[in-house]
Amino acid sequence: MHKVKKIFDIAYGHRLFNYIGKCGNLHGHNAKIEVNLKTPQLNAENMVVDFTLIAAKLNKWLNENLDHKVILSKKDPLLKILRDEGQECYETSENPTAEALAELIFKKTQEEFPIVYKVKFWETDSCCAIYEKEKT
Ligand SMILES: [Zn+2]
Repeated sequence: MHKVKKIFDIAYGHRLFNYIGKCGNLHGHNAKIEVNLKTPQLNAENMVVDFTLIAAKLNKWLNENLDHKVILSKKDPLLKILRDEGQECYETSENPTAEALAELIFKKTQEEFPIVYKVKFWETDSCCAIYEKEKT
């Protein structure tokens, strides 16, 4: 089995709505995202996937959707207030936890690269959420 990993960095703001604790306050993170792909058979270029290709596709989506955006639950009233002020926000169905963002990025990656098997979302240097494909 061949495996590769590509790392991305984003900055974002968020808060957890209806959450008691400091994460209920609007705050920001510099997150590190590890995207892991694997295949038993290398492609015609003798690669799992061209790093340039995955960087181009995922950087585009991350830049347009998450990087330097405020990520909020659709249930959060702050979403409307910030949008009315011209702030670029990304809306999630539930609270934008590291777990939710790991799953979101996994699913977006999977649309272009079905061989993705794990995404690690480092919210801080010591807090990481992992979303991975279930063993089949
Ligand atoms: Zn946070």
